[in-house]
Amino acid sequence: MNSEFQEYISNLLNENVTKINSVSGGDISEAFKIRTSKNAYFLKTNQASTLNMFQTEAAALKHINDTKTIKTPKVIAVDTFKNNAFLLMEFIESKTPTNSDFETLGFQLAALHSHSVDYFGWEQDNFIGTLPQSNTLHKSWADFYVNERLQPQLRLARQSNLLSGNECPPTEKMLQALQPMFQNTKPSLLHGDLWGGNYIISKSGEPYLIDPAMYYGHSEVDIAMTKLFGGFGDNFYKAYHSVHPEDAHTTSRIDVYQLYYLLVHLNLFGNSYYGSVSRILQKYF
Ligand code: ADP
Repeated sequence: MNSEFQEYISNLLNENVTKINSVSGGDISEAFKIRTSKNAYFLKTNQASTLNMFQTEAAALKHINDTKTIKTPKVIAVDTFKNNAFLLMEFIESKTPTNSDFETLGFQLAALHSHSVDYFGWEQDNFIGTLPQSNTLHKSWADFYVNERLQPQLRLARQSNLLSGNECPPTEKMLQALQPMFQNTKPSLLHGDLWGGNYIISKSGEPYLIDPAMYYGHSEVDIAMTKLFGGFGDNFYKAYHSVHPEDAHTTSRIDVYQLYYLLVHLNLFGNSYYGSVSRILQKYF
């Protein structure tokens, strides 16, 4: 971070910056912990062209926080300075989660998912990783999930020759296969990219969500993502499902929801995800 940018942030905060450290762990942007005499802040920076990405992230953080079900870091500013776009927020000091923290996370995520509207999608498109994520509104979950989630990723994989044409099922076939398992699915406010790196347990044991790819979709989409790389522990699922119980179609839905994230990984990171993608495509479509 150059001294000019540092001075700009210091003026913006109206606090004296005492220390700046790089924070590792992000795959997209450069991140810093900024300490002042009074507080600590988290700063993400990237090229000016990513301002839109930071703006949608800031809007989602605020929307989730406004539900008062689960916290997100407070956004201080989202803007550009010279060639940089940046997102400045409160820094959350973290600790290793205990079983009881996982239980709290389960209950709070369940409360977030109880926030509903009468459509699937969101008023603005956003991103999943660096890939665009369309949130065009639909009344039907199957229409939304096939047209705004699976098809765009299948098209991308097809264009990059990661999948062949006959491995990509037509829309009608997918809609038909999904109809029975998507009965009784209501819109829930989702984090949208809930892997283990996208929550923080604060020093005082409060869960925070970070880096959302938010929209209104079926609640088990977030659960599917928590299970894709290892799971969040029994206490989390016990608490969560005491509010939103599983049903006879949960296992199949988890598979088809993981398909979206696996397609995203196939498109972002290449062929090592082909096997898992192909297995689910063949099993359900
Ligand atoms: P990227 O969008 O580049 O993937 P992330 O938002 O995932 O970046 O942040 C990178 C890392 O910084 C995360 O792994 C997380 O642990 C940490 N982090 C993110 N936001 C905060 C915050 N507000 N306070 C403290 N640490 C944070």
